[in-house]
Amino acid sequence: MTDYVLAPSPTPIVPVEGEAAAFPVRRILCVGRNYAAHRREMGGDDRDPPFFFAKPADAVAPPGAVVPYPPRTANLHHEIELVVALKFGGHDVSVDTALSLVYGYAVGVDLTRRDLQNAAKDKGQPWDASKGFDHSAPISAIRPWTGEAPQGRISLSVNGEVRQDAAVADMIWNVAEIISEASKLWTLAPGDLIFTGTPEGVGPVEVGDLVTGEVEGVGQLQFTVTA
Ligand code: MN
Repeated sequence: MTDYVLAPSPTPIVPVEGEAAAFPVRRILCVGRNYAAHRREMGGDDRDPPFFFAKPADAVAPPGAVVPYPPRTANLHHEIELVVALKFGGHDVSVDTALSLVYGYAVGVDLTRRDLQNAAKDKGQPWDASKGFDHSAPISAIRPWTGEAPQGRISLSVNGEVRQDAAVADMIWNVAEIISEASKLWTLAPGDLIFTGTPEGVGPVEVGDLVTGEVEGVGQLQFTVTA
């Protein structure tokens, strides 16, 4: 048994539907520009493939956690996303076997300090401050799932007004391809979460806004942005 000079940080967790036990988060990978219409609204080139970035594991904000408006931004954006939760890992995973790594799916929001992200893009700087800040990954409970990945409606409303409304089937890389691509860059492991990208309609949220998100068949997520 290892002795530590400090108390180790607790493992971030996400609840699991129908289970008393929680899902331990190892790390969070995210896919950028995985829906064509969103890639266009971000000014992207239609020929550019999706890509990855990351958030720290402790960015998760599970149901009931606070989601405070973060500092150093005046343009906090919502991005509704299907989240894949892995029960097995691997590297160089084939597309054909990739779905066998999946524990389940959740509904997530990739909160983004868009003003900082735009400034980073202009300067060729990294996205950590715009994407990987505290509480930047609100997430629903995970629904255990086997077989074909979700394909249905993915939507987000702010104060009851629909802002994003698309279909998971519209993703450029599907779930199996995402897992396979990620495994070429990192050795995946149990506990990894992958945010799979957002469809078009991203926009700002303010303090006091009620954000609701849903992925058909997977679940719903709800949080209020606090001061
Ligand atoms: Mn995103």
